[in-house]
Amino acid sequence: MDCARALAAGARVHEHRFVRLPDLREASDIPGAAFPGLPPTYIPLRNAIFYSFGASYAEEIGASAIAGGHNSDDAGVFEDVGPRFFSHLQKALRSGSAGLRKSSLQILRPLKRMNKVSVVRLASSLGVPLELTWSCHRDGRTHCWRCPGCASRSHAFSEAGVEDPLSPASRKIT
Ligand SMILES: [Zn+2]
Repeated sequence: MDCARALAAGARVHEHRFVRLPDLREASDIPGAAFPGLPPTYIPLRNAIFYSFGASYAEEIGASAIAGGHNSDDAGVFEDVGPRFFSHLQKALRSGSAGLRKSSLQILRPLKRMNKVSVVRLASSLGVPLELTWSCHRDGRTHCWRCPGCASRSHAFSEAGVEDPLSPASRKIT
């Protein structure tokens, strides 16, 4: 959350709102759950929930777009990151709100054709403050470098040929 606040401040976001969802659980935290083909980090229908909150906020402020940072790697694993899901969701959200129909609400996914390696390269080329990005699935003060999020981050930075300012190796140098 500290990283999200810092990134939003740097991007001069008008209002940065946090939504708390304490009852959402990952597959690994659901006793006896079986989600074939999905990783333990899967949260059942998370994007239906997240984008519904986004759409509610969009209607509230009269916004015409919701943007998500999903990449092509995620779309290969999770059904609720794919084009079919978002096409249907956009229609469903518009059908439930005169305000969103009037604004022709769009769900934008500018990174949808890029894999994580390409996203890291793009971020580096744009001067994104990568030291403020967060990938760890745990809630420590620093990245654990052992969870799937950290492993994926390490792999993407390595393949992109971009030095990760947060990696333990980088921190030893500075
Ligand atoms: Zn981690």
